[in-house]
Amino acid sequence: MIKVAKFGGSSVAGAGQFEKVRSIITSDPSRKIVVASAAGKRDKDDHKLTDLLYLCHAHLTYGFPCDDILTAIRSRFSEIRDSLGLSYDVESDFDSLASRLTKNFSVDELVSRGEYFTSKLLAEYLGFQFVDAADCVFFGMDGQIDREKTYSAISDALAAYGKILIPGFYGELPTGRIKVMTRGGSDITGALAAAAVDADVYENWTDVSGILMADPKIVNNPKPIPTITYSELRELAFMGASVLHEDSIMPVKEKGIALNIRNTNKPEDPGTLIVENAGDSSEEAEERFITGIAGKKNFDILTVNKRNMNINSTLCQAVSILERYHVPVEHITMGLDSFALVASAAALGDSLYDIMADIQKSCRPDNIDLQDDIALVAAVGRKMTSKPGVSGKLFNALGKNNINIRTIAQGADELSIIVGVENERFDTAIRVLYEGFAG
Ligand code: ASP
Repeated sequence: MIKVAKFGGSSVAGAGQFEKVRSIITSDPSRKIVVASAAGKRDKDDHKLTDLLYLCHAHLTYGFPCDDILTAIRSRFSEIRDSLGLSYDVESDFDSLASRLTKNFSVDELVSRGEYFTSKLLAEYLGFQFVDAADCVFFGMDGQIDREKTYSAISDALAAYGKILIPGFYGELPTGRIKVMTRGGSDITGALAAAAVDADVYENWTDVSGILMADPKIVNNPKPIPTITYSELRELAFMGASVLHEDSIMPVKEKGIALNIRNTNKPEDPGTLIVENAGDSSEEAEERFITGIAGKKNFDILTVNKRNMNINSTLCQAVSILERYHVPVEHITMGLDSFALVASAAALGDSLYDIMADIQKSCRPDNIDLQDDIALVAAVGRKMTSKPGVSGKLFNALGKNNINIRTIAQGADELSIIVGVENERFDTAIRVLYEGFAG
């Protein structure tokens, strides 16, 4: 059994967090690969090292002194080293980096040092072999990860050392230069490592006990989702839930590796398990048919009415007009003599009235109706397919709470039911669905 454990910035923010990481790692010997982010915030007024390093680079670029920032970063590392009684001479390496800094110093190399030094310290503390990401995570000339080369380097390193620690977030270009990924990229490194060694589980350790069933800014204390499929997660992300970035999921999803989101501060919590297919666990047998609720505000609904229209061609014309203005159609609903297109108000922007005029000209409708300030709310759940009456229950609950449903769409795969409500009823709609069906 091999588990890859990635620890985010808050999990390695200081010596106390390092201790938690060590007890997680030593409690399960199958955790053979660790991927670490740069030390993050220790409290809400603190700074992430990556942010400080970007700030430092900006100072260099504009010719401002950055000595104070460098001192602050350096002392974060030496504090961790001293509190844990480690021997790594972080000051020497850090000072030699600082001495090379110039106006043109590579921003990628500089910010990657947050992960590098944090990982050096953590590797010593855990007794794992430090394997530099520059030696095992490779980009191609196109700036994309060279999966084949990366996978074989990571699996060779594991075979050679048995327990390895890789800094997240960066890798090496064919030119030998360091390149960083997008922000939060250590998640990607973790997923690559898990895919490289065909891990049984990819654990992503963070500071929450999994993905929450609804936005905690709207619902008070929402429960975490115990199990979710990759497809459901995609729906929730598409509907606005802030979950893992698609790129960080792809390598493990492709290999059918389960991804477990866990809380470093509450290791006893099972977190959220993301799987390709949810099995027949006891949780599956539960009555609850909603996995999660998400939503977004500010959509417009354009309803085109035309008696006896040829729906195929009229709809096609209208959609191609939106396409011409680069406006993605979020949903389409149809009636006998009408159809409605839902699109984001931001995407429609100033083109809205030109689009309506073009539809008027090409489709020759009896009339076009515009409803604005619409929010879309999605109830996502794989178990909705097998349960009759689900949509009835949802609509009933919204109706009882006086929420007017302006449009309804069910995903063709029956993974989600999406309703359009007035923007100002958005929070209430989410709460009604959560309290009625998820809480
Ligand atoms: N340290 C980087 C960031 O703050 C990458 C990561 O944490 O995953 O974005």
